[in-house]
Amino acid sequence: MAEKDDSKEPVITEITPRSEDFSRWYTDLVRRAELADYSPVKGCMVIRPYGYAIWELIQRALDDRFKASGHVNAYFPLFIPRSLLMKEAEHVEGFAPQVGWVTRGGTEELEEPLAIRPTSEVIIGTMYAKWIQSWRDLPVLINQWANVVRWEKVTRLFLRTTEFLWQEGHTAHETAAEAEEETLKILAIYKEFAETELAMPVIAGRKSESEKFAGAERTYSIEALMGDGRALQAGTSHNLGQNFAKAFEIRFQARDKSLQYVHGTSWGVSTRLIGGVIMTHGDDRGLMLPPRVAPYQVVIVPIPKGNWRETVLPHAQAIRAALAARGVRVMLDDRDAYTPGWKFSEWELRGVPLRLEIGPKDIEKRHVMLARRDTREKSAAPVDGIAETVAAILESIQRSMFERALAYREAHTSATASWDEFTQIMEGRPGFVVSPWCGDGVCEADIKAATQATIRNLPADKPPSGAPCVKCGRPSVADAWFAKAY
Ligand SMILES: [Zn+2]
Repeated sequence: MAEKDDSKEPVITEITPRSEDFSRWYTDLVRRAELADYSPVKGCMVIRPYGYAIWELIQRALDDRFKASGHVNAYFPLFIPRSLLMKEAEHVEGFAPQVGWVTRGGTEELEEPLAIRPTSEVIIGTMYAKWIQSWRDLPVLINQWANVVRWEKVTRLFLRTTEFLWQEGHTAHETAAEAEEETLKILAIYKEFAETELAMPVIAGRKSESEKFAGAERTYSIEALMGDGRALQAGTSHNLGQNFAKAFEIRFQARDKSLQYVHGTSWGVSTRLIGGVIMTHGDDRGLMLPPRVAPYQVVIVPIPKGNWRETVLPHAQAIRAALAARGVRVMLDDRDAYTPGWKFSEWELRGVPLRLEIGPKDIEKRHVMLARRDTREKSAAPVDGIAETVAAILESIQRSMFERALAYREAHTSATASWDEFTQIMEGRPGFVVSPWCGDGVCEADIKAATQATIRNLPADKPPSGAPCVKCGRPSVADAWFAKAY
């Protein structure tokens, strides 16, 4: 994809079956369902209204959680002066290959080139150094909703694009313990959010040294399993320790009057989550959206018989009003230009959780037909109390989509302490493999070289078994979750 002129991609009319080519299926679906499209800017996508509506629902759900846990939003500049970016050595080294630069303003060469932010620790840290003087100023709990730019060689819609949207939280604390508590609190929020809103089960744990964020002391992540058995890192939370505080002189007078550096955290999730939703739930028929993040939770399709605009449509409109009053996001597809059959498959493809059909016979019987996207079950429901019925079915869909995804993950998770078995699993049916690991980065690199599998994270909820490392046989420090990953 990297070498192609993305803007010349043909219009998609059909979706490649998922079982035939997962990668092609994904891209076809993103474009055909009108979530996103390629743009004339290499590596940059356009998020179309239907995709952006999903992002808005994700934003709202997360933002509510951030605010409820004491965080506030602010906005910092897109540009970072070069000298500032150079201050934290590991951070610079980690991001240097991906930074885009602005060297001219109008006709003038800039005296100092400006980096386009790949992330905002640097600019935010600089401001925190100004704003924080005393322990009374702490903690600072700020989040930013923003775009960032990382120059990518190989891009995929939503999963990896040069510019993407995200939120980045940046906090400063008095003690190391408080910073660690914040880091883990956010990790827990991410997990609960992914499972409740996206119906996407995730493993929460700590990253190995080689996979941690450039400049962090500890990185934690949530990891989900996609429909092709590959893992997707869906969110990260970093304990920055005092690294950035020292580089940017973020100091405060402590309770004992001594001068101390703050303890920092940073954390983020991005539009990549939309890719995660698509690959967790979608099937050969197209997208399958969890009701909580579906722009339309219900589509009403009137069956056009006779003078249906006089007979059927008013009933459909009344149902739409009743559903909307109950807080259901509903679309009434009363377009004349398309047949009901076309509309059925179109809205199925676009992942609407529930379809409501109403025709002259249904009106006589005072009922409607309901069709679930997840199970494709069809059933009749009385018009009386339809809003309550629909709300209950949407909750049931949300729950069963999570359960189905969880069952899939469990069926694609193996545990082994044998290297032969480990390599066999990784060659065959992919998924998570939980295996004892010695904690050595060289051994981790050997495993990756042999199998392409990386350590996704090291969950904290289980004490290590102490069994010999799956690769080298030395005593293990943790049971690691391995997978091939996006
Ligand atoms: Zn080892």
